[in-house]
Amino acid sequence: MRDTFLIVDGNSLMHRAFHAIAELDGDEMTHVLWGMIKKELLLPFVELNTEYYDLSLPHRDETENAVTSQAADAIRRLRVGVKCATITPNLQRQEEYGLKKLWKSPNATIRAALDGTVFRAPILLKRVKPVVTGWEEPVTVARHAYGDLYKAVEYRVPCAGKAELVFTDESGRELSRQTVYDFPAAGVVQAMHNRDDSILSFARCCFGYALSVGQDVWFGAKDTISKDYDQTFKLLFQKVFDEEFRTDFEKAGLHYRYALIDDIAAKVIRSKGGMVWACKNYDGDVMSDMIAAASASLPMMTSVLVSPDGCFEYEAAHGTVTDHFYRWRKGEKVSTNPLATMFAWAGALRKRGELDGNADLVRFAGCLEQAGLDIFEAGHFTEDLTMLCDPSEYTDKPDNDTLLGLIRARLETLLTE
Ligand code: NAP
Ligand code: MG
Repeated sequence: MRDTFLIVDGNSLMHRAFHAIAELDGDEMTHVLWGMIKKELLLPFVELNTEYYDLSLPHRDETENAVTSQAADAIRRLRVGVKCATITPNLQRQEEYGLKKLWKSPNATIRAALDGTVFRAPILLKRVKPVVTGWEEPVTVARHAYGDLYKAVEYRVPCAGKAELVFTDESGRELSRQTVYDFPAAGVVQAMHNRDDSILSFARCCFGYALSVGQDVWFGAKDTISKDYDQTFKLLFQKVFDEEFRTDFEKAGLHYRYALIDDIAAKVIRSKGGMVWACKNYDGDVMSDMIAAASASLPMMTSVLVSPDGCFEYEAAHGTVTDHFYRWRKGEKVSTNPLATMFAWAGALRKRGELDGNADLVRFAGCLEQAGLDIFEAGHFTEDLTMLCDPSEYTDKPDNDTLLGLIRARLETLLTE
């Protein structure tokens, strides 16, 4: 299909994205970077076909947040989306932007609409040695985004007394009553829940994603101690693997490994990396930050939300980098790391290309990532990385305009090679 590949002005290469991608624009410094990346690194090379949704806070406010649901619908329909970081408003932001309401986090809305799982992986640079020196490939953390501590009910026990766990079915019949603890004095109690359908979706997302990137799945829980709660996770994961994925995993030479969470944590540290580590909600919260810090830094984390039926939304894991934005608005030159946002675009374009059988677009996505990596590996670092490294590791610290110019020149070379 040569018509995916256009020649413009006799020499520049122009790749056409066949079907549309949902493009979700956002706020502050990442919104500024978004525009720069499109202008310098995408539009000169790709005939972008996007459905554009403006998720900036003022526009979410103006549309009573309807734009967020429309964007989520678009990802469902088009199967591929790319999202810029957005502000999750708090009281201070409400005042700053004169908001009608404290709108919910767009990421939470989109995650719920897609019933999705978030996969986070660091971008590794040879020049930035991971704290764990054995890691050769990124460790991807898949975090279950439902239940556990985040939907727990708690009670601060004020005095001696009995705490019970009671379950009543829909008809009002009591099926279970257990004593949690006979408190001799004040204390604290907590109840958590999860749902089979959510755990099953999580397992499907993990196995499906791992298969698409050709990696093993590791899953750890504490079923020896938590004989119903964690045991349910273990059994449902095994069921999904055996019934839906075992054959494909075997064909691809991939493995699923279950062990106790503490054992898995130790094994991940001693591994070469390159696996999808499925984590329950709280474990994923903690481990994704640990992996980010141990690999490089938060600005270098990529993130993709995957639904069990195969919709993909790519984004950078970091936020809108507010302090850079305020400085940039005053006319200061700033050095913001664009790699995770570039990788988000590359991820979306690659996935679009794979779904459409558009090899040129897949190749372009690879070149886009490579161009960014090459410029960093050549010693041009952003400020966040210079703070992590010995000055001998880098040559300079270009501002955003200079850096994007360097990456563009490298991309032009890679595309014509
Ligand atoms: P943040 O924007 O990720 O920034 C935290 C700090 O990390 C920054 O101050 C900066 O450190 C550094 N940093 C992050 N990304 C960077 C990059 N690309 N290049 C260089 N440095 C980078 O998190 P936050 O300050 O907690 O949140 C700011 C806003 O983002 C909030 O309104 C929050 O709601 C939103 N947020 C959105 C998402 C999302 O949409 N996915 C995720 C998280 C937060 P220095 O100041 O040291 O340079
Ligand atoms: Mg966390």
